[in-house]
Amino acid sequence: MARRRDKLVDETGGAAGKAAWAAFESFLAGGRARATRARRRVCVHAAGRHDHFRADDVAADLAQGPGRVSRGTVYRTLARLVEAGLLREIPAAGCARYETVAGRPPHEHLVCERCGRVIEAAHGDLAAAIERMCAVQRFRPRAHSLHITGACEQCAEKRR
Ligand SMILES: [Zn+2]
Ligand SMILES: [Zn+2]
Repeated sequence: MARRRDKLVDETGGAAGKAAWAAFESFLAGGRARATRARRRVCVHAAGRHDHFRADDVAADLAQGPGRVSRGTVYRTLARLVEAGLLREIPAAGCARYETVAGRPPHEHLVCERCGRVIEAAHGDLAAAIERMCAVQRFRPRAHSLHITGACEQCAEKRR
């Protein structure tokens, strides 16, 4: 299985990490949940990623060192980050992927069921169609997600 890992992780937080943590801290406070160091570490780490990562990728990266975070905490915190609107969940074949929301242009996902690749795709007509679709129902959209499963170009070629 080809796993392309874009390793662009900013562990120190940076501006994106700080902004994400500020937003997540107030989300946690609203739900009367504690802003723990482990939650902060997961939040800042996720905010610094620019790939479509699995929960296990984060768990592996945060499993070492003095501030190590347990796998369970990673899973639960990622779910909360999705609720908080800071992460987007892509229900990829068998294993959910996540991506940061901040600073990313709108796009959809094409998920290869054979190699696990997640391809980002955008089409102007699609955004307009979604807008019209909601308008017809007098529906006020907050967020949307569309993912198409199938085979990427390379995998489709291989099977022929
Ligand atoms: Zn593929
Ligand atoms: Zn994406």
